[in-house]
Amino acid sequence: MEKLKKNEMVRVRIEDMGHDGAGIGRVDGYALFVKDALIGDLAEVKIMKAKKNYAYARLMRIVEPSPFRVEPRCPVSRQCGGCQLQAMDYEQQLLFKQRKVENNLKRIGGFENLCVQPVLGMEEPFRYRNKAQFPIGTDKEGHPVAGFYAGRTHSIISCMDCLLGHPVNEQILDAVLNYMERFQVPAYDEQTGKGLVRHVLVRVGFSTKELMVCLVLNGRKLPKQEILVEELTKIEGMTSITINVNTERSNVILGRELIPVWGQTYITDYIGDLAYQISPLSFYQVNPAQTRKLYETALSYAGLTGKETVWDLYCGIGTISLFLARKAKKVYGVEIIPQAIEDARKNAARNGITNAEFFVGKSEEILPEYYRKNGGYADVIVVDPPRKGCEEALLETIVKMQPARVVYVSCDSATLARDLKYLCGNGFRVEKVQPVDMFGQTVHVETVCLLSRNK
Ligand code: SAH
Repeated sequence: MEKLKKNEMVRVRIEDMGHDGAGIGRVDGYALFVKDALIGDLAEVKIMKAKKNYAYARLMRIVEPSPFRVEPRCPVSRQCGGCQLQAMDYEQQLLFKQRKVENNLKRIGGFENLCVQPVLGMEEPFRYRNKAQFPIGTDKEGHPVAGFYAGRTHSIISCMDCLLGHPVNEQILDAVLNYMERFQVPAYDEQTGKGLVRHVLVRVGFSTKELMVCLVLNGRKLPKQEILVEELTKIEGMTSITINVNTERSNVILGRELIPVWGQTYITDYIGDLAYQISPLSFYQVNPAQTRKLYETALSYAGLTGKETVWDLYCGIGTISLFLARKAKKVYGVEIIPQAIEDARKNAARNGITNAEFFVGKSEEILPEYYRKNGGYADVIVVDPPRKGCEEALLETIVKMQPARVVYVSCDSATLARDLKYLCGNGFRVEKVQPVDMFGQTVHVETVCLLSRNK
C-alpha cells in the first residue's frame, strides 16, 4: 500500500465515529481519524500525522454532507471543541451515545447481550447547564477577555455566551471585564504565574433563579472590590458573591479557601420537591432537568419499600441520598469534600429528613473500615463515582456486604464496564442499563445501571 504523507489531500467517506466524536474512514488500508467529520460525510481531508496503519487528518471540505449534519448554532463550536457533536442531529447524538455505552460494555466488560435502553434525551438540548467556569485572560491589545482556551494553548478565544449555558453568564462577565478594564486589574497569566483574576464561576439555580458568582483569584482581594460588587448586585437574582483563593501554579481551577464577599456563601435549587443548598466548592449536577430523570431512575432501580438500609457512595451534597431517604429506613452517605458534606447535612435538616447520616472521606476507605468495625449491612448500595470509577478496595467490600442490589450511576461508560465486570465476576448480574443525556452536543453520556445479587 502507498504510504500516506503529511499534508497530502485525500477524499474519504466517513463510516464510523470514535468515542471522542472523531469521524473514522478508510483509505488504502489506513484508518483515518478526522475531527469534526460525521458518519456519512464524504470529505476532503488533509493528512496531519501518518502512522503505520492509521493517520490523523483535518477536515478541509465537505464534498457530500452526511444526512445527519445540521448547522451548528454556535459560531465558535469548531474552535472551542467543547461540543464535539454540535453538527450532528440530536436524535443521532442519542444513538451515538447508546452505541458508545454498548461498545464499552462489550469491549471492556465482555458483556455480549446486554440490552442497553435508548438514551433518555432532553426536550431542549441547549441552554441546559446551570454552571459555567470561564477562564480570564488578556488579548493581544491588552484588554481582559473571557472565553475558552484555544486548543492546547494558553490563549483565550473570547466567548461570553456559551449556548449550553444561561444567558446571564454574559451579563456577569461583562460586569467583571468592564470593572477590570476600568481599574486596570490584571488577568492571571498561566505562563508567568502573575496577575490576579483566574476564572469566573457562575451557578444559576434554575428553579429558584438564584445566582452565584465565585471569583477565582491568584490572591485574596480585589482592588476597589466594592465597585464590582455594586455592579454584580444590580443583576437580578444575585444571591452569593465569593472569592476563591488559588495561588497554585497548576491548571486546577479552584483552590481550597473560600472568602465570603457579599450575600450568602451558597445558593438553593430544587430537584423535584427537595431543596438543595449548593456551595461553590461542592459538586452539583449541571443539568437539573435531566438530573431529575437520572435520580428517578436510580430511585426506581433501588426498589425501596421503607425497610431498607442504603449506602450512597460519592454522595456530593447528598442529592441522591435525600431522594432515597424518604423511601428507605436509613441512608448513609460518603463524600470526600468536607464542604459538600456540610451542605448534605444542612440539606437533610432543611428538608426535614432525619434518617440520613453522612461521613467525610474516601468511599474506598470509609466503607471498608465501617464494615470491619461494625460488620455494616446494606440492602442497596448506590455508587456515583467520578470518571475514574471505583477503587477495587471499594468493590471488594461491596461484594462482601452482599447487598441485594447495587445501583451504579456513571459518567464514564469505560470505567463502568470495568467495574461491572468485577462485580459480575463476584456474584452480581446486570439487570438494567439506562443511559441519560445530561450533556447534549458533547460526547459524554451518563448511565444508570441496576445489578442484582445472584441467589
Ligand atoms: N451523587 C452526587 C455526586 C456525584 S459526583 C450527585 O449526583 O450530585 C462524584 C462525587 O464524588 C463528587 O462530589 C466528588 O467530590 C466525590 N468523590 C471523588 N472521589 C471520591 C472518593 N474517593 N470518595 C468519596 N467521594 C469522592
